[in-house]
Amino acid sequence: MKRSQEILTLSTVIAMFFTSSTWAGNGPPIENRQLNCTENGECTNNQQQQSLAGNYLTDSEDAFLSEPKQANSDNGAHNNQQGSQENCMDEDCSLLELAEISEAEIATLLFMREEEKMARDVYITLYEVWQTQIFTNISQAEQRHMEQIKALMDGYELPDSALEEIGLFANSDIQALYDSLIERGSISQLEAFQVGALVEEVDIADLENAIAETENPALEKLYTNLMNGSYSHLRSFVRNIESLDNTYQVQYLPQEEVDYILNPATANPGIAINVDDSQITATNAQFKPLIKNQNGSHNNGAVFAQNDEITLATTFRPDTTHIGQNADLLTAATFTPVGDNRQSMFMRGKNGNWQQWDGDLNNVVVSQTQQKLSVNQRFEIYQGSLPAGKYQISTAYRLQNGTFILDEQPMNFSVK
Ligand code: ZN
Ligand code: ZN
Repeated sequence: MKRSQEILTLSTVIAMFFTSSTWAGNGPPIENRQLNCTENGECTNNQQQQSLAGNYLTDSEDAFLSEPKQANSDNGAHNNQQGSQENCMDEDCSLLELAEISEAEIATLLFMREEEKMARDVYITLYEVWQTQIFTNISQAEQRHMEQIKALMDGYELPDSALEEIGLFANSDIQALYDSLIERGSISQLEAFQVGALVEEVDIADLENAIAETENPALEKLYTNLMNGSYSHLRSFVRNIESLDNTYQVQYLPQEEVDYILNPATANPGIAINVDDSQITATNAQFKPLIKNQNGSHNNGAVFAQNDEITLATTFRPDTTHIGQNADLLTAATFTPVGDNRQSMFMRGKNGNWQQWDGDLNNVVVSQTQQKLSVNQRFEIYQGSLPAGKYQISTAYRLQNGTFILDEQPMNFSVK
């Protein structure tokens, strides 16, 4: 009895997202009406005045989301065979055991240490050539990135192969890349900014591979932090390129990924719903919808014609703590035909066929099963023309423990 009540509450919550007031055009935005979430992931439901705060994010997972703390290199007593690292949340410090590290993970970690040094040295050198402030600011950030990697290397008692001298590298590939970047960056200020953007694109690609190849939480946390830094550096260099009246052309990563990095503001946060206990928590997952026709991309509220060729997709970043986990991908849609208020709900099946859905989370249809979550994921939703009516489409992923992480703001548009 209790369980079916919980399920009812959950489908009501989901239905509230589908029938959001933003869509109907009345009432406050959904996030104000429904949920109050604090930074540590505790949410309360305004309507029922009921606390849904829980322990979805434990203290150690909270620490996982925060900036890495400087590891104490005098901390030898805590080092054991598997390594260790101090993690402090407020005054409560607890020792987090470091997971075992493989030879491949060590090789990647040492490589990333030199790649961050390459970024730092490129920016230090290009500052000397052009005296542009951006290179000083970002070279200092790269110095911190190097230190964060070194701190984890110390935790594992790994020797540092990075050379002291600026512009010299132990890895010959990195040395060759550095030399060519300095040559290019010395041509003009524009080329110097282009070099900066290229360094960040390459860094992001290498960090993504590093994250995909490890399940070690300390490494995932470190690489995710470095990658967020690189996102912000790439945005800075692109702003400088644009300030010289140039349009930025992607140099290394896929176009859609760079678009996503450069326009983070349009991404929506994801919220987590735990099916077992109905807890709703905030996450740092981000969903970015793509609504396109033959004329280009559109925002929510777009109006299309019945013969438009419509492409719908979502790019999303899973919550940091979910990267590397296996998850099912789900897409649900509501359709309201013209001149009719009755909504129908559908879910997208594996081969792209849509099946009617009753809104019960126990009866969901899965689009893709057991995908290993990487940093940036894209799922295709629909391509083709659509009948007249109003559409709302929501995307989600479901972890193996049954938790759904759902786009807080569904995409919506209509066809006339
Ligand atoms: Zn960096
Ligand atoms: Zn950077």
